[in-house]
Amino acid sequence: MIVALAVASAAVVLVNGFYSSYLVQRQVLIDATLEANRAYAAKLADTTQNFIEEAQEQLAYAAGIIARHADDEARLLQEAERLRLQSHSFNSVAIVDTAAIVRATSPEALQIKGRQLQSAAAREALEQRRPLVSQPYTAITGNMLVVISHPVFAPDDRYLGYVGGTIYLRERNVLNRLLGEHHYQDGSYLYVVDQGRTLLYHPEEDRIGERVGGNAVIEAAIAGDAGRMEVVNSRNVPMLAGYAPVPAAGWGIVAQRPVDVTLAPLDELMWRVAVKTAPVAVITLIAIWWFARAISRPLGQLADGARQMDAPGTADRIQRVRSWYVEARQIKRAMLIGIGLLQARIGRLDRDARTDPLTGLVNRRGLGEVLELWRAEARPFAAIAIDIDHFKRINDSWGHEIGDTVLRRLGQILRQTARETDLVCRTGGEEFLLLLPDRSPAAALAVAERLRKAVATERIEPIGHVTISAGIAALPDDGADAGTVLRLADDMLYEAKRTGRDRVAAIRSRR
Ligand code: GH3
Ligand code: MG
Ligand code: MG
Repeated sequence: MIVALAVASAAVVLVNGFYSSYLVQRQVLIDATLEANRAYAAKLADTTQNFIEEAQEQLAYAAGIIARHADDEARLLQEAERLRLQSHSFNSVAIVDTAAIVRATSPEALQIKGRQLQSAAAREALEQRRPLVSQPYTAITGNMLVVISHPVFAPDDRYLGYVGGTIYLRERNVLNRLLGEHHYQDGSYLYVVDQGRTLLYHPEEDRIGERVGGNAVIEAAIAGDAGRMEVVNSRNVPMLAGYAPVPAAGWGIVAQRPVDVTLAPLDELMWRVAVKTAPVAVITLIAIWWFARAISRPLGQLADGARQMDAPGTADRIQRVRSWYVEARQIKRAMLIGIGLLQARIGRLDRDARTDPLTGLVNRRGLGEVLELWRAEARPFAAIAIDIDHFKRINDSWGHEIGDTVLRRLGQILRQTARETDLVCRTGGEEFLLLLPDRSPAAALAVAERLRKAVATERIEPIGHVTISAGIAALPDDGADAGTVLRLADDMLYEAKRTGRDRVAAIRSRR
């Protein structure tokens, strides 16, 4: 868990750092592009504004000359020619009288001299009688154009018509020259719209003259605002746009670049960040993994030990755990103390389970275990079954307490009489069993007699003397298994009782 947590946290920090860096880089790219486009649109709008102002000054100057030579056809023609060739601003020039009749053109090849113009632009110029930039329209010559016009007033202020310079939107024109062929490799491009949202300039020539649906950038630019914006263009491509107005014409200029093109270098950028980060990240993760494991290993080993505190060898295993930091050391110490206490207690319980609490002799359960051991070893033994005579009377006349004293005393005598290797048991209330390993029935008989006499002569306060009866049987002499032999010893004990008590009985054949 510790290892997983440590490694996961480090990984989360790493990934988060990487992602943040991605977001920051992304924003930097977007901001930089927006700013570049804003500045670019502003610059070109400024250039275009200057051009229109200059064009109108040139028209104004020409209007002065035209006013003085209104009746001189050759002079009008010359002026139209001069204006077109000298200024380089117009694809064509026309001088129009108040009846919308063309008086002179340049180039003459237009062949509209003497014809009456029907366009809205012509009508507007004649009505307004002031400098104008027309809406784009398709002229009688078939060209799509805009007209920059200036009124012509005679020296006596009579209105004589106007002089107009045209820009052919779909041909090489001054806008192309000013705005350049901005069809960059990087996907950025520029376009110009007029108040009617008609494209005046666009890198895709087919789209010139197209009316574009109002998008936020176009609306802002033709409303006279400048700025930068993220928009989705008319073809559903997200764009980073800068925009600026051309107040003299009511046009808007938009410079923009697709978002995905702008962000294309980001993948490469992030890949480089990843490659640069990777070695340190890997080393860090390995170090974290290693340290977390070093911290958790002693804990895991101690926990394993805790699962089997009572198993043998656990203390050794815990002893061997390398607890290299204070907390693990303390837990280890506490566990070793705990195991010590536990095993001491288990040992005591084990002993208690095999011990008779009144006399401290082995009980039936302990007897069973010893017999099992001897059976496995095929060890011969002699058994002496012992019962106190008329014990009920002792209890009845002196009480249980005194009865217990007698039982304890008899236990002591039995222990004193027995050898170290003999097993002394209290098998029931006032019944005892003495097992003599590797001893013959005859030897057992001698021991039993000695015992009987020792009890009979022992004075026990306050009751005086008690006697015992005993029965003897031996394995393998009298029976093939312990159960049979013990039963036979009991039988002999009964025999001793029956024949007068305070005596020892053995299997008849051996008497
Ligand atoms: P017998 O000579 O035939 O053996 O006569 P008895 O009175 O001893 O008869 P029995 O062996 O049947 O009596 C067993 C008595 O031992 C019954 C009970 O009062 C007494 N007794 C058994 N266990 C204990 C004990 O733990 N403490 C005391 N004080 N008396 C016990
Ligand atoms: Mg009895
Ligand atoms: Mg008895």
